Amino acid sequence: MKQSMPDKHLQLKSLPGVDHILALAETDEQFTRMPRSLILESVRRAIDNTRKQILEDKPAIITDEAILKQAARLAGQKMKNRLNPLINATGVVLHTNLGRALLCRDALDNIMAVSSSYSNLELDLATGKRGIRYAAIEELICELTGAQAAMAVNNNAGAVLLALNTLAQGRQVIVSRGELVEIGGSFRIPDVMIKSGCILKEVGTTNRTHPHDYTHAITEETGLLLKVHTSNYKIEGFTTSVSLKELVGIGKSHDIPVMEDLGSGTLIDFRAFGLPSEPPVFEQVASGADVVTFSGDKLLGGPQAGIIVGTKHYMDQIKANPLTRALRIDKMTLAGLEATLKLYRDTLVAVEEIPTLKMLTLSYEQLCSDADVLFSLVTEAVGNQAEIALADMASRPGGGSYPGLTLPTRCLTIRPKTMSVTALDKKLRAFDPAVMGRIEDDWFIIDPRTLQPGQNKILANILKKLID
Ligand SMILES: *Cc1c(COP(=O)(O)O)cnc(C)c1O
Repeated sequence: MKQSMPDKHLQLKSLPGVDHILALAETDEQFTRMPRSLILESVRRAIDNTRKQILEDKPAIITDEAILKQAARLAGQKMKNRLNPLINATGVVLHTNLGRALLCRDALDNIMAVSSSYSNLELDLATGKRGIRYAAIEELICELTGAQAAMAVNNNAGAVLLALNTLAQGRQVIVSRGELVEIGGSFRIPDVMIKSGCILKEVGTTNRTHPHDYTHAITEETGLLLKVHTSNYKIEGFTTSVSLKELVGIGKSHDIPVMEDLGSGTLIDFRAFGLPSEPPVFEQVASGADVVTFSGDKLLGGPQAGIIVGTKHYMDQIKANPLTRALRIDKMTLAGLEATLKLYRDTLVAVEEIPTLKMLTLSYEQLCSDADVLFSLVTEAVGNQAEIALADMASRPGGGSYPGLTLPTRCLTIRPKTMSVTALDKKLRAFDPAVMGRIEDDWFIIDPRTLQPGQNKILANILKKLID
């Protein structure tokens, strides 16, 4: 005989009370180390959910154990961090969505040391008087770039805003139409111009801008000539632009400052490592620009920061701008930046120690051997539950550096027999740690370029759990 659904009223009456479940939770190891407020909230929600199920005629388990278990699951979800480390198997070295540059060991150690203790952040130890926050890095940046003065703010968008506002508030800033860039996350030169209080004066065309375009546009109203590095696109074909050197010449003859937003500034010449040239900061400074801005966490491979270098005359004005207080860099960033910059005194050390540089300069031979190791680990892990192969492919530097460039790499490609490739992709993203790869031609692609030491084994274990 089929059992009839128990009376709704009776079911509701049999629901345990909050206090009863809470008392049980106090000694239940599912809730160890959880704050009482969170346990209380989760118990309430679990009971509410069960009540709702009863009212909606859905099957409900009304035992203490079931409600405790539900409460533990709800509380567990809230205990987890939302921001978590993950495995980047995309091969994109500077991936904005995945946190851009990884910090080097020295930076991490210095951040730990400086932020777990009091420090001389704004204290001049020689005089005992108030010191300057940027003192830790100014000399170092000057040494590495040849600039007369330097400072750092929260990020490069902030650096551009601050420099424009200081040098040309209420005045015109002349920019080539070929350089009115938008980079991810809504940073657009015309918009930043408005927010900095400057008036954008576009000259030239998208593909061609000549020196006379600048000189014809210069008036009494002109406050600055701005060059913007087209860091995430390339204009090809019938093109011409005015070099920084030429622009500096024009600025000098009209007594107008020249600034360059370099975006992803690098402190080494990548040509020495077989990569094409991204203009190094020291070359731009040597070209005579009055002010140059660049990011701390793009090709430089340090923490998020915006670095401003330039002549003492203009840098003094920038440092005195009240906006610097709103954009100021914090001590953790400063500690990480100083440690990273110090490594640049020896280029070979920098390339070895700074993860971004190391990943960008990995040789194809090294990547092949990494891919071979990964191949054996994954084959061993998932056996014949998936098709696994190796393929020559391309990695992208990413993050507003090296537009259009791809680097040769060797990837593991995998296609499970137990589920679709998109299903695998979804499961990998839901795993802890999540794995980010990419799908191409119905294969899941793993690029060893961005795997960190030891992650190949972890990845093989995750694949085993998901596929086997
Ligand atoms: C990346 C970039 C910026 C913004 O730098 P953030 O450090 O991300 O704020 C500004 N200008 C250019 C040309 C860039 O490439």
